[in-house]
Amino acid sequence: MNHTHEHTGSGCQFQPDPGMEKMKDRLSRIAHKILVLSGKGGVGKSTVAVNTAIALAKAGKTVGLLDVDIHGPSVPEMLGLTGHTVDATESGITPVTCLNGIRVMSVGFLLKNQDDAVIWRGPLKYSVIKQFLSDVDWGDLDYLIVDAPPGTGDEPLSVAQFLEGDAAALIVTTPQQVAIADVRKSIRFCQKLGVRILGVIENMSGFICPHCHATVNIFHTGGGESMARQLNVPFLGAIPLDPAIVDCGDGGDSFLDRFSESPAALAYRDILEPILAIDAHRAHGLSFSPNPVTDTTGSRLRVAFPVADGRLCMHFGHCQVFEFIDVNPDTGVIIGQTSETPPAHEPGLLPAWVHEKGATIVITGGMGSRAQALFRENGIQVVTGAPAETPRELITAYIKGDLKTGANVCDH
Ligand code: ADP
Repeated sequence: MNHTHEHTGSGCQFQPDPGMEKMKDRLSRIAHKILVLSGKGGVGKSTVAVNTAIALAKAGKTVGLLDVDIHGPSVPEMLGLTGHTVDATESGITPVTCLNGIRVMSVGFLLKNQDDAVIWRGPLKYSVIKQFLSDVDWGDLDYLIVDAPPGTGDEPLSVAQFLEGDAAALIVTTPQQVAIADVRKSIRFCQKLGVRILGVIENMSGFICPHCHATVNIFHTGGGESMARQLNVPFLGAIPLDPAIVDCGDGGDSFLDRFSESPAALAYRDILEPILAIDAHRAHGLSFSPNPVTDTTGSRLRVAFPVADGRLCMHFGHCQVFEFIDVNPDTGVIIGQTSETPPAHEPGLLPAWVHEKGATIVITGGMGSRAQALFRENGIQVVTGAPAETPRELITAYIKGDLKTGANVCDH
């Protein structure tokens, strides 16, 4: 924290910086601050920031979008806001409100000419970012998405420091092998500054041919997922290359509105789930761990689901497979899912097998009372009476705290 120096009769005393106090006040009205980071430029970080903001707003959230890319602010263009300027009132600088009600602030709104080369040095960048967080009248927000410039330089550093660890990060990368070193740098940056990592997004992952709709893998795909596993951070999803994203970005159009059923738009739905889950967590009075989770395997909650035909099996002993979903208990983020064939149904076998697999909760439609006792003896909590939905739907409801359970359908 910054302090101003003041000389008094009794000597030198420190007083809090009023600018910082104001910032704290403003930030306390923003529930979740999300930094969108990337190791290098051109991977689609701004595109992901803009579309995540749009997707959250479409999901009914109140969203702010702050573009602190001082050297190349692209958010105004992507949202069709080029040429807009901002007004200052008594309560601060009013952000520009765009479609879906997103409140936007960008250094682009402060430049007279879009081609002005901004050659601001470190201290000036620091004070501009401070102003964005303390003087912009964001109001009450569910989410503030911050599009930071690539790398781990002054701007992301200033933002993370101002937020004092009260932030989560989305790390955007591309499938090429070389990207791993960049992602590692971004992860280390987050860990040092106490920023929680929501996960890695692989952008430009495969190309969907606009004519035949087949997927062409220009780069080796799946790199992001294996990289995330290697680096022990959640993988949130892969967004394919889609020429319509470029057209929409250049034309200031909302890709998610115009191409809502495209594979890339569908990929955003998966990515949005864990981001929405953190707000559902807040609604249920659960809080995040104050420390960033650096080891997700050390902090994993495994939930088991007996499944038949992709849905919860009403009689757990008759299921085809068990789905195991891993959740980070601090963040509510889903960090993995595996499917396993259980051993033949013999009394007493399944509870020990589920325990061996590391699950501590089993969610089922029905289960006899003897089996329930055996699960409990194995340290596994049993939730019965869950509906015949997919494990993904069930875990999402469970994390939100609104899983509806009815009668135990198999109490024998
Ligand atoms: P960054 O912020 O990482 O520098 P941008 O978001 O500005 O990258 O994206 C760089 C270019 O790539 C833009 O023209 C954008 O429209 C395009 N782009 C981003 N993601 C995709 C995608 N999934 N498919 C096609 N083009 C994309």
